[in-house]
Amino acid sequence: MKIKRVEVYKADLLLKRAFRIALGEIEVARNVFIRIDTDAGLSGWGEGSPFTPIVGETQATCLEAARDLGRLILGKDPLDIENRVYELTSYLPHNTTIRSAFDMALHDLLGKAAELPLFALLGGGRRPIFTDNTIGIDTPEAMANIAIEYKQRGFPAVKVKVGTTANADIERIKRIREAIGPELPIRIDANQGWDCVCAIRALRGMERFGVQYCEQPVSVWDFESMRRVRSKTTIPIMADESVFDEHDAFKLLSMDACDYLNIKLSKSGGIHTAVKINAVAEAAGAKCMVGCMSETRLGLTAAAHVASARPNICFIDLDSADSLTMDPVEGGIAYEDGGKITLPDAPGLGCAIDPSFLEELDSFTVQE
Ligand code: MG
Repeated sequence: MKIKRVEVYKADLLLKRAFRIALGEIEVARNVFIRIDTDAGLSGWGEGSPFTPIVGETQATCLEAARDLGRLILGKDPLDIENRVYELTSYLPHNTTIRSAFDMALHDLLGKAAELPLFALLGGGRRPIFTDNTIGIDTPEAMANIAIEYKQRGFPAVKVKVGTTANADIERIKRIREAIGPELPIRIDANQGWDCVCAIRALRGMERFGVQYCEQPVSVWDFESMRRVRSKTTIPIMADESVFDEHDAFKLLSMDACDYLNIKLSKSGGIHTAVKINAVAEAAGAKCMVGCMSETRLGLTAAAHVASARPNICFIDLDSADSLTMDPVEGGIAYEDGGKITLPDAPGLGCAIDPSFLEELDSFTVQE
């Protein structure tokens, strides 16, 4: 089998409401879809959702990079993922989001060629997985109201964005805990918004509200402060922006900087490295979460396959489809009440972008 053509699509997807985190605010998800076509008549789908303050990529850089990455793999075997990922990574080591779209499409093709759904191709099974839902930074009142809505919809946990000032963030968590009662887990994510001193103050002030864990309290580069924060609070620490690949995972866990890791395909450059990160975490006795940026159900389906296939992934944060005003995906994961995610049976990812939606999009073709 050889790669014959790559189609690249630019997709702007409006969010239901502006979403604010410590690193910035978005109102539109500016994503990229790719489709890799082969001479065997099979096609594989991938999606990238570049969140610029984390990955340093924009929709424009993703589109331009896709032209080069497409040329790099034309005429080659899509099933030799080890070598294709090596070529993509050697050519653009830092552009993880657009590489993840290619990696996803290659895995989709491998699953279709093997006639296996991706979770089975990864050597895993189908298991019940449940996503939390995320509350962006806002006033404590507004955030508490959304928390009540999520509780009523049955989500197993709420994830709360913080990372402003210690006092304001403690107030947010206090109000949310009062609003939803003592049972529902609250996960928080500071997105690097604090320094070491502020993080310790904020987390100690939140301990009495029962916080399940805190993602990325300090800057991406500051592994030492993350270790120090972890040693000063009973709230477990999860690395997110600090872990892009298996090397980051190894360093963070070797120095006891965190309890958990958050894996996102848009940071890891796709599934190939995501499963390596999880394996390093498993070796260190650390659980993982699988998270997302602002993908449609296509990118979320790829991440859900990985989560289902790896029981060490204990926390699921695949909620971005709920924040988009449209759903252009055919097939793929289904959401039920209570955040339950059901995987498709079809080979590969088990989903595609609706052809009528694609007609509306700007696109280009990479071919010989
Ligand atoms: Mg995070």
